[in-house]
Amino acid sequence: MAEGLRFEHVTISLGPERLIALDCTVGPGEVLTVMGPSGSGKSTLLAAITGTLDAAFAMTGRIRLDGHDLAGLPTEARRVGILFQDEYLFPHLSVGANLAFGLKPGVTGRAARRARVGAALAEVGLAGFAERDPATLSGGQRARVALQRMLLSEPRALLLDEAFSKLDTGLRAQVRALVFDTARQRALPVLQVTHDHSDAEAAGGEVMTVG
Ligand code: ADP
Ligand code: MG
Repeated sequence: MAEGLRFEHVTISLGPERLIALDCTVGPGEVLTVMGPSGSGKSTLLAAITGTLDAAFAMTGRIRLDGHDLAGLPTEARRVGILFQDEYLFPHLSVGANLAFGLKPGVTGRAARRARVGAALAEVGLAGFAERDPATLSGGQRARVALQRMLLSEPRALLLDEAFSKLDTGLRAQVRALVFDTARQRALPVLQVTHDHSDAEAAGGEVMTVG
């Protein structure tokens, strides 16, 4: 059942320094924005959720997604999608192959996989882009491909790590609206970390400050 992303007395420290203290729930379709300057532990918080926290950090408390304790689950079993400021599309793969990478292994058969990829592209106005080299896409188009690749993996929560910071103002507003609207439609809890106030305002949810 969708219960959202829950932080139970979560703290993350680096040596003697406590970077993060969080005790709250991000419900399905809600957005929590964590704001703080560079080095304040924002990416570290997201690493704790994806299961990629470096051994240099110590975490206490529990993180639950839809009731399930994430501790001990490998990254790929956590059902968490993440978007970064760089899209990290594989440069040696076509747009379609990049999207197919997001598909769950349960979607079998070449035709079925191709159809899912085609539908995902059409959904964001990129029908017919499957054969394109990602390098030939605009920043906004690459951002939409990255969003769709992440959604094809059927995540139960969405994490945004300064995801819009490389887009210029007009495009930034567009891509941001697409991401937040999509998350709301799919009732995904969203945790966004950013140092930009306009990202926090656009999200429209609760804002917390760290650092
Ligand atoms: P932010 O995303 O808010 O800019 P980070 O979460 O990347 O900040 O980093 C928080 C702090 O942890 C910084 O002081 C950074 O230098 C430090 N840090 C990041 N990764 C590591 C690591 N693997 N080992 C030790 N310290 C790290
Ligand atoms: Mg960071």
